[in-house]
Amino acid sequence: MKKKTNKPIYKRRDILIGASALTAAGVLTACKDNVSGGTPENPGQSASISKKIIQWKMITCWPRDFPGGGTHSQKLAQRITEASDGRLEIKNFAAGELVPAFEVFDAVREGTAECGHAAPYYWISKHKAIPFFCTVPGGMTASEKAAWIIYGGGQQLWDELYAEFGVKSFLCGNTGVQMGGWFQKEINSLEDFQGIKMRMPGLGAEVVNRMGGTAVNMPAGEIMPALQSGVIDAAEWVGPWNDLALGFYKVANYYYGPGFHEGGTGNELIMNKKSYDTLPLDLKAIVKHACLAGALESPVEYFARSALSLDILIKKHNVDVRPFPKDVINKMFAISKEVVEETASLGELHARIYKSWSDFLYQSMRYQKYSDYGYMRDRSEAYGI
Ligand code: CA
Repeated sequence: MKKKTNKPIYKRRDILIGASALTAAGVLTACKDNVSGGTPENPGQSASISKKIIQWKMITCWPRDFPGGGTHSQKLAQRITEASDGRLEIKNFAAGELVPAFEVFDAVREGTAECGHAAPYYWISKHKAIPFFCTVPGGMTASEKAAWIIYGGGQQLWDELYAEFGVKSFLCGNTGVQMGGWFQKEINSLEDFQGIKMRMPGLGAEVVNRMGGTAVNMPAGEIMPALQSGVIDAAEWVGPWNDLALGFYKVANYYYGPGFHEGGTGNELIMNKKSYDTLPLDLKAIVKHACLAGALESPVEYFARSALSLDILIKKHNVDVRPFPKDVINKMFAISKEVVEETASLGELHARIYKSWSDFLYQSMRYQKYSDYGYMRDRSEAYGI
C-alpha cells in the first residue's frame, strides 16, 4: 500500500483512466482501502490509484425485477453507483441469491452484506416497535410517514432503535395505501368475518383474529393456489399494480378497498452501521439523497401504475371492486387502534416511539380535515366520482 498524501491533486480524466486500468487488471477490490496515491518515489503514478472504490453488496427481500420492491432496489443501487461516479459501487442481489428474503436484517447486521432493501415490518420479531417505521394497522399514509420520519423526529428514534442492532436505515420507498384484499364471498356485515381464513401479515393479522377470523401469512407465490383451492377465503397483497400482475382476479370474486392495515408501507435501505459510519461525507450525502429520491419516486410510481391497473381490473376483467361496509371498516380501525396502542406497554423505547408516532398521527388527522383529505373529499363530491 502506498502512503497517503495530505492533499491529493488529480484530474477527473486521470481518475477514470486509472480506475479502468485497475478494473482491467482485476485489482479493484485490492485497492478498496487505498486512498489517493502518489509517493515521493513514484510521483507520476499517483493518478492511477487516486480513486477510492468502495464496493457494497445490497441484498433484498424481492425477486429480480419484482415490480416495486425489486425494481426500486435495483434503481437505488444503480443511482448511488452513478451519482458517486462509481466510487460507491453497489451490486444488487435478489432474494435468495445471497441470503433468503427474511434473513436480510441479520445478514446486514453481521456484515455478510453492507446493505439491504426491505420492508422493516419483516423484522417485528427483532423488536415490536420496528413496524412503526414501516406500517401498522390504522397508521400513516405515505406522505404522513415521510413527514414523521423526516420532520417529526422519526429518524432519530429509528436510529436509536437500530443502533442496538448495529444497523442504520433511511426510508427509500413506499407502496402507498394498500387494498383490503380479495374475497371469495361478499362482506356485508361483521358476521361475515366470522370464521374467515385470510392471508394477512404483521399486526393486521391480530386485527383479523379479533374480528373473528383466522389470519395466516404466506409469500406471494403461494397466495393464488391457496385462494383457488379454498385453503384461504381471502387475501391481501398490495394494491392494483401488484395484484393485477399476480392475477388474483382470476380466482377471487370481490376486491375490497382501501384496507385498514397498510396505509402506506415504507421500504428501507438498511445498512451495516460500521460500513455507513466509515463512508466519507460526500458518499453519505449521496446515499441519503438517493434514498430521499426513492422515497418520493416509489410511491408516485405505485400511484400512477395502480390507478391504471384499477381501470384494467374493472374494465377489462370485470372485477367487482367495492369499499368495506361502514360498520366493518369502523370495527377494523377500532381494533387496530387497540392493537397498536398495546405496543407502547412493551418497553421504554416502545413507549417513546409510540408516543412520538401517535402524537404526529393525531396532529396529522386534525390537519387532514383541512388538507389533502378534506380537499379530495370535496373534489370527489363535486365531480361525482
Ligand atoms: Ca400488504
